[in-house]
Parts: sequence; structure tokens; C-alpha cells
Amino acid sequence: MPRLYDSRKKILVTGGAGFLGSHLIDRLLAQGHEVLCVDNLFTGTKRNIDHLHGHPHFEFMRHDVCFPLYVEVDEIYNLACPASPIHYQHDPIQTTKTSVLGAINLLGLAKRLKCKIFHASTSEVYGDPSIHPQPEEYWGNVNPTGLRACYDEGKRCAETLFSDYRRQWGIEVKIARIFNTYGPRMHPADGRVVSNFIVQALGGEPLTIYGDGSQSRSFCYVDDLVDGFLRFMETGHDVSGPINLGNPEEFTILELARKVIEMTGSASEIIRLPLPQDDPRQRKPDIGKAREILGWQPKVQLDQGLSKTVDYFKSYE
Ligand code: NAD
Ligand code: UDP
Ligand code: UDP
Repeated sequence: MPRLYDSRKKILVTGGAGFLGSHLIDRLLAQGHEVLCVDNLFTGTKRNIDHLHGHPHFEFMRHDVCFPLYVEVDEIYNLACPASPIHYQHDPIQTTKTSVLGAINLLGLAKRLKCKIFHASTSEVYGDPSIHPQPEEYWGNVNPTGLRACYDEGKRCAETLFSDYRRQWGIEVKIARIFNTYGPRMHPADGRVVSNFIVQALGGEPLTIYGDGSQSRSFCYVDDLVDGFLRFMETGHDVSGPINLGNPEEFTILELARKVIEMTGSASEIIRLPLPQDDPRQRKPDIGKAREILGWQPKVQLDQGLSKTVDYFKSYE
């Protein structure tokens, strides 16, 4: 039910104790909204939301989105899902359940409440892409039975569910395809490349390049990404996406390793480890739609963003 005496929105963020979710919550609270953070703390931590303890507009609920959720809110951001390959491959069945059952439950909630719902999809829906850069029209190249499939296919099925709830029930959905994003509050043991390299460089450990390091990624700073989320959520009913959100500046993994070593002044060496199965060769978003529809593009250069992330890990205790 809409509230009669209060225009402030109550916003549900699933996965809110994670890296991206906790930054999103900070921005929503700063805008004056109330936030309900729902998270099972699988990869997220209380540390990411500790600073909100006692905040009058913040609530935390420990809950697994694979199970139904009956709450009263005005808007939903669905971010719950492990995002790092080592984490989503730890219990792959639970990963697919989180994407698919989580989508069904949250879409059921959005349907009952008649509220709009944002979904954190991923560039992984393009798999190991044969088109470069990747536009939203590209249907992707995903191995449906490989080690990454629990994440990629789970996210693809979630996109199907969001699209069908929109068509069948008129739910207002916003599907964002997020490309590699980094920044403060990544967990030091997260396993993704930016946090691994920075933690290794600061600790004087060798930087672990998987394969020969010629594979590419395009790295977006978290503040830019959250700007994109908020702009997308403000669009009208007719804008449902999918829309790519990411930084189109592309780097090889070897270039990233060298940059991190230079920036930290580390004496670490670089070592090579085997390339994981189905590791995409290249990835770079075509952000034409985000520019045109959302008026959005990233502002933070990799050097600036890395420097803030290095500072975060330097002071991590
Ligand atoms: P993260 O691992 O830091 O955060 C994910 C959060 O979801 C964690 O707090 C975790 O505890 C929670 N979670 C996992 N399973 C859950 C479940 N069943 N029920 C409730 N909570 C659950 O990862 P992140 O980087 O913050 O990613 C957030 C979202 O963005 C994910 O959906 C991810 O797939 C998507 N995404 C992230 C990136 C990126 O580069 N960071 C890229 C593409 C997509
Ligand atoms: N659901 C939920 N919260 C709600 C409403 C629904 O978690 O407030 C879940 C419920 O478990 C249901 C799912 O969302 O199975 C899908 O809801 P929908 O209305 O689409 O399907 P139905 O209830 O008809 O199976
Ligand atoms: N990678 C690496 N060393 C690491 C972690 C990752 O060389 O310590 C590589 C990984 O094989 C991939 C790229 O860096 O080619 C990005 O990996 P990440 O796990 O960050 O994200 P994703 O593969 O999901 O894009």
C-alpha cells in the first residue's frame, strides 16, 4: 500500500551487504530514502554496512532470496548473487538457484506490490564473445554445461524472467548488464583480478596472471556504476533494457598487473598460472544505449579509481 503521510520511499536492496550493494545503499540513504537491506551474508559482510548501524532509515534482514519474501517496499534493487568466479563456483547449484529462484521471488514481490524492480545482470550473458565490443543486441556465446554456466545461465534465465514478468504482468523492470567493476569494499579474498593484484602487490606477493595475460577486460569504478543504476531507475515505464553499464576503456590483464605494480611501488614479480576453463578472451561494453537513454558515461579513469582502491586496501585491517 502507498503511504498516506510520507513521500519518502522505502527501497529494498538484495545483496546489500556486498560490494556494489553497500555503495548503492549509501547513495540511496544520502538521497533521503529508507533502505531495507536483505542479504544472507554468503559473500557480503556486516563490515560493509557497519557504518549504518543505528541509522534511523536503515534496516538489515538476514535472508536467502531463494525463499519467498513478504515485505512492504516502494522499489526493489535485486543484486543478491555471488559475483566472483571462485565464489559462484563454490556451490554452483546454489548460484543458479539464487539467480533463478531469487528472480522469481522478487518479481512475485514486485507484482504484488506493483513496484518497479532493477536487476543486476552481467556482461557474462555474452559468454566468450565473438563480437567486440558487445552491444545489447548480441545474444552471446555461453557454454551451458561449463564451470561458469551456473552464473552465466542463471543470469540469462533471470533476464528471461524479468522480460516475461514485464510482458505478462506489466511489471516495470530495469535490466542492467554490468561489466567488471572495482573499488573500495571488494573483499580482500574476493578473488577477482583487481582486488587480487592490489592485495598481492601490497603484501609483496607475486601477482598471479592466469594464462598469458593477453585476455582483456574493461574496468568501471564503483561510483560511476552506481550513478548508472540510479539514472536507470529514474527512467519511465517504457525503458526496461537490457542496458550495458561499464567503462569502455579496455586493458589486457598484463597491462593491469604492470599498472598495479607501478602504482603501489611494489617489488612483487608476476607469475603465470593456468587459465581457468571458458575464461572470456575479451570484454568491452558498447555503451551507446546508456549514453543515449540515460545520458550516462563513466567519469573515473582507471588510474584514479585504482589509486582510491589501493588506499582502501592499505588501510584495511
Ligand atoms: P558481492 O559478492 O560483493 O555481493 C553479492 C551479495 O549478494 C553478497 O552480499 C552476498 O552475501 C549476497 N547474496 C548471495 N547469495 C544470496 C542469496 N541467496 N540471498 C541473499 N543474499 C545473497 O558481489 P558484487 O560485486 O557486489 O555484485 C553484486 C551484483 O552485481 C551481483 O548480482 C553480481 O552478479 C552483479 N555484477 C557485479 C559485477 C562486478 O564487477 N562487481 C559485474 C557484473 C554483475
Ligand atoms: N512471492 C514473494 N513475495 C511476495 C509475493 C510473491 O516472495 O510478496 C513469491 C512467491 O513465493 C511466489 C513467487 O514470488 O511463488 C512468484 O510469485 P507469482 O505471483 O508470480 O507466482 P504465484 O504465486 O502465482 O506462483
Ligand atoms: N585473473 C588473473 N589473475 C587473478 C584473477 C583473475 O589473471 O588473480 C584473470 C581472469 O582469468 C580473467 C580476468 O583476470 O581473465 C578477470 O577475472 P575476474 O575474476 O576479475 O572477472 P571475470 O573473469 O568474471 O571477468
